[in-house]
Amino acid sequence: MSRRLLVLGWHNIDPTPFYPAAPDAGRRGFDRQLAAIDRLATVVPLSEAVDTLAAGGSLPRRAVALTFDDGYADWLDAAVPALDRRGMHGTFFLVSDILSGRVGAWWEELADAFDRCTATSLDWAGRTHDLSTPVARRAAQDALKDELKLVDGATRNEAVTRIAERIAPPLSSQPPRDPLFLDWDGARALAATGHGVGSHTVTHPILAREDAATQRHELAASREALEEGLGQTVDLLAYPNGNAGDYDQQTMELARAAGYRAAVTTRPGLVGPQEPPFAMHRVVLTPLTDVGELFGKVARKGTGMARKVANRAVRTLTPTG
Ligand SMILES: [Zn+2]
Repeated sequence: MSRRLLVLGWHNIDPTPFYPAAPDAGRRGFDRQLAAIDRLATVVPLSEAVDTLAAGGSLPRRAVALTFDDGYADWLDAAVPALDRRGMHGTFFLVSDILSGRVGAWWEELADAFDRCTATSLDWAGRTHDLSTPVARRAAQDALKDELKLVDGATRNEAVTRIAERIAPPLSSQPPRDPLFLDWDGARALAATGHGVGSHTVTHPILAREDAATQRHELAASREALEEGLGQTVDLLAYPNGNAGDYDQQTMELARAAGYRAAVTTRPGLVGPQEPPFAMHRVVLTPLTDVGELFGKVARKGTGMARKVANRAVRTLTPTG
């Protein structure tokens, strides 16, 4: 038995503009990861693990909780079926205004504009970005993404719209594509699978960049919308972006006041019994991450549970790229 938990976090399974990959690489990679986790660890629902740790109880040895952020449409036809084939439980964090179509996912919209880019340069915020080659476009996209994480959500969304207008033809001139994100029907289908559902706020702002009233709204209104829309209790939270500095003490207090029981970050590490439930460590990966190598990194942080997992991972995993 153990009193430590490894929380893993994915976003999409299939490739997207922001997370490009070969067409079926995500599904193959994800299935390979689940096979490794099946051999090496015991998957526990995040909600149950939170209860157990809060009560001072013990988790199974090598306990791992599987989580997913943002509401990608491929959860329903890729992530959930792969989990169900192995009898594994996942917890899915949804953005209520993305479900409603009221906001887009700014990081995907920015990446999509760069994919469709026809401009050769962009003057933005006092700087000229070269867009004449794929390498230059990638560098410009990364620089703008980092810059946009420093501002509040309204400013960021407005900036993405203006950048897209200036570097790419209007979306209305493009052939329609399959939606990248779930809508409310998709969210209800997801909730009906029996997997866990949590909140990832209303519009996916970086909470610590917002004032208290906005944070309170993002936390409370998303929980209410999800509970009403899905007909079930929603009391787990994933902070957007989730690094140190993306949420703070005030954010954690507001999350508790909004009715959440716990919140996950993207700060890597293991969750132990002494860790505050509103700052749970989580290791973010993509379907292409080598799980054995990842467990090794966690192990080098010096915990017995992860070291054992990593030792077995190194022996049994043969990365195939
Ligand atoms: Zn997110």
